[in-house]
Order: sequence, then C-alpha cells, then structure tokens
Amino acid sequence: MSIKIENLTYVYNPGSPFETKALDNVNVEIEAGEFIGLIGHTGSGKSTLTQHLNGLIKPTSGKIIINDTDITNQSVKLRDIRKKVGLVFQYPEHQLFEETIYKDIAFGPLNLGLSESEVEERVKDAMEFVKLPFDELKDRSPFELSGGQRRRVAIAGVFAMRPEVLILDEPTAGLDPRTRDELLEEIKSLHSRYKNTVILVSHSMEDIAKLVDRIIVMHKGKVALLGQPREVFKEVETLESIGLGVPQISYLIRDLKQKGIELREDIFTVEEAKAEILKWIRGNKNA
Ligand code: ADP
Ligand code: MG
Repeated sequence: MSIKIENLTYVYNPGSPFETKALDNVNVEIEAGEFIGLIGHTGSGKSTLTQHLNGLIKPTSGKIIINDTDITNQSVKLRDIRKKVGLVFQYPEHQLFEETIYKDIAFGPLNLGLSESEVEERVKDAMEFVKLPFDELKDRSPFELSGGQRRRVAIAGVFAMRPEVLILDEPTAGLDPRTRDELLEEIKSLHSRYKNTVILVSHSMEDIAKLVDRIIVMHKGKVALLGQPREVFKEVETLESIGLGVPQISYLIRDLKQKGIELREDIFTVEEAKAEILKWIRGNKNA
C-alpha cells in the first residue's frame, strides 16, 4: 500500500497555553513495499506522525492518502483503516491484557472475523517470527515472561493481523543489545516474506542504517532530510546540528580518509567498511 502525506500539520491543545505544533507541513510519499526508517530526536513528532497513519489522530490540516483513499475523510471507517495499517506503540507490552499469550496474540485476528483454525495458524506463524516457542508458551501468562519476551508477544499480536502497512514505534527501546538485534532481524525477515510497507521509528542510526530503503529525518515537526541511507548519511553536519549522528563506523571511515587513506565515503555498515578497508590494504600490497 502506498502512503501519501500532504501538507500535514498537527497542533496539540490549540488555543490553550499548552498549544504545541507537533507537525508542521509534512509532505512524504511512501511506495508500497518500502521499508522506511523514521528517525529524529525526542519530541520531533515521530509518534504524532505514526498515529495519523492509522487514523488515531486526525490532522489539524492536510491529508493522508493510503492507496487511493483519503483516510482523513469523515466517511472512512477507522475499523477498515486498522485492518490494513498495524501500529505497534512504544512500550507495547504495557497493553497486554489477556490471561494467556495465545489469547493476546489472537485478539486482533479474531476481530478480523477469521475462523478459529485460521486464527491459530496466524498465532503460530507470528510466534515463529518473533522466536517464541508456540507449544511451550501459548497457555502461559504474558506476565510470567521477561520484558523482552513480553515485547515480542505484543509485536506478534500486530504481526498476526498481517497488516499491509506495519508501523513500529521505537520497538527496541529499552531492550538489551542482543534482543534488539534479534528483533530487528525478525522485523526484516517479516518484510522480506510479506513485502509489506514497514515504517520503523527509531532514534538510533545504527539500528536503521542496515535495514531500510529510505530514511525520513524529523526535526521540530518538519521533515529535515529524506532519502536513501547513503544520501542521508552524507549530511553529517545537518544531522549533528539536530542532535543526531551518523553510524559510528561512518566516523571511523571519515577519520581514516582524513589520514590520507583512500576510501569511499558513503559507508555505513561494518560489513561495507571491512570490504573497503581490505580492498585498500590489498591495493597497497600490490602497489
Ligand atoms: P517523538 O515521538 O518524536 O518523541 P511526539 O510526536 O511524541 O515526538 O511529540 C511531538 C511534540 O508534541 C512534542 O513537543 C511533544 O511534547 C508534543 N506532544 C506529544 N504528545 C502530546 C500530547 N498528548 N499532548 C500535548 N503535547 C504532546
Ligand atoms: Mg515517540
């Protein structure tokens, strides 16, 4: 599903002393099947933007067109939007409420009106994606699990709806590095299988650098940068001026270049850096 955000502005508490312009004339087009990273400092408007995409918040002004439907139109039913656009909130584990893991993950699919056998298949499949053993865990309470595993249950509940657009708002916040990397791999493998549109919100460049097709950088409610990772990471000064950096490995490459070592500049993963440095070493040996 394609998404078109047109002149989107959103103001919290308009007309009150607490008035805050959270989004300021945002324009973005996302193609069906794209994997998008949405990044920005705390308070830059990321969560406000994502909540517009499943109709949870209505714009102060502007439009959101999903496929060919303007979802800000009053006649569009929220229920229909939410069947297609799945949103995993920040700290989604706080919203678990059923007595078993199975029931929690099955909640969304049951609401889609699927048969019981279809629901079971969806729950199994979603648990497999997030690496939770079905037989062992299905009848246990989510509250017996560790924080990282509860997060996985909550995410599986949205995966199980098989949304055409999947939005994850800082899914790795507060997780240890290993669980974080595993979860990002799981999200990536889901995207590879279903070719759905995925929007991953993060404030970590390292997290999204190696995963996404394009990055949207938000700053004070506006889109500051938008492009493929290698384009965005070239804008080191802009990124630093808004409190973001480029991945650590990109700084290393820049330092090496400044020492006179000839390397490509647009490198942002450790694998690419390794290949490039080896190439340089071999080139020098032969010289
Ligand atoms: P992010 O997700 O990037 O941290 P948010 O979308 O949560 O940013 O916030 C954008 C701006 O809107 C911030 O200035 C924030 O304080 C404000 N804001 C967010 N939620 C609310 C709310 N419920 N009421 C009032 N202001 C809010
Ligand atoms: Mg947020």
